[in-house]
Amino acid sequence: MKIFIKFAALAVTLAYGSIAGSAADAWKVIHAGTLLAVPGSGAKSEQSVLIKNNKIERIEAGYQTPAVPDGDKLEIIDLKGAFVMPGLMDMHVHLDLNGPDWTQSRNKDAEAAYDVLETIENARKTLEAGYTTVRNPGGRGYAVFAVRDAINKGGILGPRILAGGHTITASADDEYSGACSGVESCRAAVRRQIEMGADMIKIYATCSGSQPCGHGDARPVFLDDEMRAVIETAKTRQLTVAAHAHAIEGIKQALRLGVNSVEHSTFADAEAFELYVKNGIFMVPTVAVQDNVIRDYKKATDPAMRHVMENAISSHPEAVRGAYKAGVKIAAGSDAGVISHGDNANELIWYVNKVGMTPEDALVAATVRGAELIRKTDDFGTLEPGKFADIVAFSSSPLEKIEAVKAVSFVMKNGEIFVQK
Ligand SMILES: [Zn+2]
Repeated sequence: MKIFIKFAALAVTLAYGSIAGSAADAWKVIHAGTLLAVPGSGAKSEQSVLIKNNKIERIEAGYQTPAVPDGDKLEIIDLKGAFVMPGLMDMHVHLDLNGPDWTQSRNKDAEAAYDVLETIENARKTLEAGYTTVRNPGGRGYAVFAVRDAINKGGILGPRILAGGHTITASADDEYSGACSGVESCRAAVRRQIEMGADMIKIYATCSGSQPCGHGDARPVFLDDEMRAVIETAKTRQLTVAAHAHAIEGIKQALRLGVNSVEHSTFADAEAFELYVKNGIFMVPTVAVQDNVIRDYKKATDPAMRHVMENAISSHPEAVRGAYKAGVKIAAGSDAGVISHGDNANELIWYVNKVGMTPEDALVAATVRGAELIRKTDDFGTLEPGKFADIVAFSSSPLEKIEAVKAVSFVMKNGEIFVQK
């Protein structure tokens, strides 16, 4: 192997006609007690993961100390007592939201600045919880774009972020950049998000679950031609569309018109599951928010809201369970920002304990399915040669007890170590 690497380096030198002395590569090898390299394919014990700079070079059985080219350094990372797997992916976070503590008391400029500070803090918590990639569908402002770019430049700690800008909302309010009313206006609303730097588009297909109109029988808020305009405009830039939807008719409208994912899906039924499967659309359940709903329900006094909450508490886990059984592709999303940042993995605990997924399927939802949803299966979701070295380890096996996903002992993103306990 050593000879082969030297030969390859020589070939590169010749090809570029450069003088000798190219920058040395950084090599790391992880000795993994248990390795789930490809979630869904089972774990193996005593494996070595070789990393060259920021990518996976190869995986070998046993604890290997591979030879590296002269002058290059090899760092050995001892995770013999740990469970090692690809970095987790959360497809639904709001890094610029902090649940009920969030206040709107400041003036606009101060709020925007404060949003950036909060987003930085929440991004760090997310990475430390083992999440190396997140999707941020719908922001309060544009703070997430700034923090995303700063993380990519390397100055700030956080996961890789796909950000959605303002949520496209059925509204005639011309102050809000996501407001959309009529086909032309809906196209423009999407283009405004694209111009600000959106990686994806989020649309509110139904009311929020915290509004009285968030009940299961509520009518869709968009007309078909408006939602179609949003989807078509997003497609002009190859952006995916995530539809927030609770009520059943809004879920079906989004599934019928061809969004890429439906978020929440609180009141989804058997006919919806069929549409998900037939159209290859992902469900991003965010079922862990039910912890909050159960808590808030005890204090709620408004009869209309109590009605919405009661229905959601009973229907939401049932909807995810039905989807799982029907073979719907489920990509994990926690709605962190509504639940606490850093508690993202509560979602996976819900999948196993209350939805009935196997622990390994819950881990598939938080890795492989996330990569599929964001169309980055060449880069993320599994530990295989050529993919980014985004790696997390837990002190015990989540395949035995899913709660282990909260006991993060190691986080690597892009070949760099951020947590090592
Ligand atoms: Zn959300």
